[in-house]
Parts: sequence; C-alpha cells; structure tokens
Amino acid sequence: MDKVKVAVLGATGLVGQRFLDLLAGHPMFEVVAVTASPRSVGKRYKDATRWMLGPSLPEPLGDLEVLETSPKALRGCGCEVDLVFSALPSSIAREVEPELAKEGFKVVSNASALRMLDDVPLVIPEVNPEHLKLIEVQQERRGWRGFVVTSPNCSTSILTLTLKPLMDHIGIKEVHVTTMQAVSGAGYSGVPSMAIVDNVIPFISGEEEKLQREPLKILGKLSDDHVEKAELKVLASCNRVCVVDGHLESVFLRPTRNVEVEEVKKVLEGFEGVPQQLKLPLAPVKPVVVRDEEDRPQPRLDRVVERGMAVVVGRIRCSEEWIRYMVLGNNVVRGAAGNAILIGELLVKMGRV
Ligand code: NAP
Repeated sequence: MDKVKVAVLGATGLVGQRFLDLLAGHPMFEVVAVTASPRSVGKRYKDATRWMLGPSLPEPLGDLEVLETSPKALRGCGCEVDLVFSALPSSIAREVEPELAKEGFKVVSNASALRMLDDVPLVIPEVNPEHLKLIEVQQERRGWRGFVVTSPNCSTSILTLTLKPLMDHIGIKEVHVTTMQAVSGAGYSGVPSMAIVDNVIPFISGEEEKLQREPLKILGKLSDDHVEKAELKVLASCNRVCVVDGHLESVFLRPTRNVEVEEVKKVLEGFEGVPQQLKLPLAPVKPVVVRDEEDRPQPRLDRVVERGMAVVVGRIRCSEEWIRYMVLGNNVVRGAAGNAILIGELLVKMGRV
C-alpha cells in the first residue's frame, strides 16, 4: 500500500516535534509538508526548530521547507496531502482548521478550539471510535469536503482511558481529580523556568474547565447528529509541577456499587478497544497498565510505557464510598500527538482517508 501523505501544522513546537518523531518510519504515513508561524516560514525544518527529543531530528525531515499555515501553501507543496495533523495554538486553529476542511483537507487536531462543537468528533480511539460518524453530520451541515476531528486535552485523555472501563463494568456517579502536570503541557515557551523550578503552581488557565467537560462528551452516547453527554460529575484541580513530561493525576471516584481492589484492577487491565483489535501500528497492547508497587506510577519511570501510548495506574484503594487511584500518562504522546496519530490510523482503516 502507498503511504498516506501527511502534513504537520505547528511542526516546530513540542507537540509538532512529537508528531515528527512518531511519524518517522511509520508504516502507514509519510510526512510531506510541515508548517509553523511566520517566524519560521521559508526556513529548513532543522534550522527553524529547537529539537528537544534527543541528539538529532529524523534525518530526511530536517530538510523540509517550513510552509505557511494555509490551504494555499499545502496545495502548493508539490504533493497531494491526504491527511493533516494539527499542533497549532488554539487561536490559530480556530481560523485555519475550518478553512482547511472547507477546502477538502482532512484534519486531526490537538487544539482545543473546535473540540466541544456538536458536529466535531472528540475522540480517544479505544473509548469512542463510533463518534467518528459525526464526520458525515459535519460535512453535510457545513458543506465541507474535508473534515476536522479533534483529540482531547492531555489530562482528559489520560483520565478518560481509565474512566471508560470503570463506567462500563462498575458504574460511576462522580469523579474528583487533582492533576500534577508537566511543563511540556504548556508548550515550548509556556512556563518560565524561574516560575517553575523548585515550585508547584496551583493554577493552569482553562485546564480545569476542559477536564470537567471533555470527558462527558467522550463518554457520551452518539445520538443521530450529536453526542448526549454522559451523566457524570467531574470536579478538577490542576497544578503545574517541575516535571518535563508526564501528567500524574490523583483520582477519587464514587462508584454506583461497592467494589474490591481486585475487581477494579481486573477491569482496568482487561480494557481494550478497536485499536487493539485492529492491531493499529501505534496501539498499545494494553491501553491501561496496572502496577502493584506502593510508589508507582512515577513520571520518570512510567511515561515511556508502551512508547508513551499506555496510561499507568497504581495505588488502587477502595472504601465504602470511593475508589481511589493514581494515573500517569505521557501528555505529549497519549495526551497529544500519539492519540492524534492513532485517530489517523483508525480513519485510514475505516476508509475515510
Ligand atoms: P508550542 O510548543 O508553543 O508550539 C506551537 C506551534 O505553533 C509552533 O510550531 C509554532 O511555530 C506554531 N505557531 C505559533 N503561532 C503560529 C501562527 N500564527 N501560525 C502558524 N503556526 C503558529 O505548543 P505545543 O505544546 O506544541 O501545543 C500545540 C497545540 O497542541 C496547542 O493547541 C496545545 O493546546 C495542544 N496540546 C498540547 C499538549 C501538550 O502536552 N503540550 C497536549 C494536548 C494538546 P513557531 O515555532 O514558528 O513559533
């Protein structure tokens, strides 16, 4: 099979770099175009990027010219672009992604701008692949030839991968979550080192709202032309901590019935979805890995499990009213580029790309 030709928007940023790293040598996708801000346009990718993922960037990609972020520039790149991965800031994505979809481009986006729109799928492939049917609603309603599918906020992806099996097998009434989020979650120039070294910042603008509303859409039921939100209350407190990659979340969850630790563990470990059944290239064997040690998960040790595509759960405790556990996920892989690529792989298998 010929490889699907992809463009990465916002390719010089932290999520953009993860895209390029995960797409280098990918069996289904070939990167043919990269874009960034006007500051970088016209430069070679290797000259425009402060590469953060090891000693050198994937060789052939370094010579790509950074294009302007527009439908015109993608059309003129010398290749037919089959699929677009976006790692743009939300304010830019809000304008550019609809323009691209209108012009026939198929976009999988990490930006928050369009996530909560009724006709825009917000997808974790193991959790709600059926929501991709909203693409048809979107195209019909907006007259678009292409489409936009979105990938959730990083903390949302990590939490919701654990909520889905617990909701299906045990039932959940309420979730309280406190996050300890890595600095890479704020992008390359997001948090000044003088603010975060030797410190914890107990506020991340807009994050609690996203973490409280996005899981309800992802866990909701598709009903014709929209998603009926899940009946579940999520309360969040978000903190920035001095860790490079990997968000750790402390979860208190009120189940609909009493459960034992062994049952919770079995439900989480047994979870799998369509990506595992289809053996998609980036699918982890187990999307949720459970560790028994009393001091796991930890960002430095567990953010690389299954190439960053699995979330790692530990410290499961059950009392009469609550299940408590810690979950760790790689915010730039499962929380961003990796989840988006998995959506792309699924779209290819479904024949939508
Ligand atoms: P970042 O490191 O700040 O990178 C931003 C990228 O956007 C850079 O490539 C930048 O290009 C480009 N850009 C900036 N202004 C632009 C413009 N006017 N036109 C075109 N491109 C422009 O941010 P990031 O962490 O990679 O995040 C990217 C997106 O993913 C954001 O929407 C973010 O909310 C979302 N996200 C991030 C994470 C995470 O863990 N970091 C997780 C989930 C979702 P230059 O280098 O030329 O400035």
